[in-house]
Amino acid sequence: MTECAVCGRDSDLPRTCRPCRNRIRGVLLALPEAVAQTWMARHRVQRGNSNERVSASKEAPLPLRLDVLSLLGPSADQVLSGEEQEGPVPVVGVLSSWADLVAEQTRQKPVSHTVSTLTQFLLDHVEWVCRQAWVADFAEELEGLMKTLRRVSGIEPVRILLPTTCPTCDLRVMVREEGSGWAAECRYCPAVKLSAREYGQLVAAQAQAVSAPREV
Ligand SMILES: [Zn+2]
Ligand SMILES: [Zn+2]
Repeated sequence: MTECAVCGRDSDLPRTCRPCRNRIRGVLLALPEAVAQTWMARHRVQRGNSNERVSASKEAPLPLRLDVLSLLGPSADQVLSGEEQEGPVPVVGVLSSWADLVAEQTRQKPVSHTVSTLTQFLLDHVEWVCRQAWVADFAEELEGLMKTLRRVSGIEPVRILLPTTCPTCDLRVMVREEGSGWAAECRYCPAVKLSAREYGQLVAAQAQAVSAPREV
């Protein structure tokens, strides 16, 4: 048993536990779509209210969302080449710095800096990545990127309210969030994140607690 570098729980795999590995893979799988949704959100705003004109309107005759542009970056699949950069870290910048590190440490040629190529390269090496000393930083940065993409695109993941109570706060606020990689999370307790197996155990325990008085 080792301690998972990402979530701190016991792991029978080196450095990173299985639920965290699955979650990191899930984020990488969902990233290209989240980037596309952000890109579409930008277009939606561009066609919208002309009062939202940006100050640098000489180069940009249509209203632009600079927060979206900054995320996609001039290097994001060439679609925004030459656009002004401001604000948060671009998607391609984050992905390429990690992909370049993986390529260097595994003695491979760096891959081209597009969202799809970079995420595929990182997916191909995700088990190797999860054994590296820097995996916690990697996970934190990718999950942060995903959160920012969702905030900017305004597309919230689907959340299903679960019929169980949180083992920590005892409130009925457990949810399953699409794409999070966890079977159940508490909306209030950041530490309560359950894998499918752990959630199954919680359901069984709570069902037993409910049915026990009747059996006596
Ligand atoms: Zn973990
Ligand atoms: Zn809770």
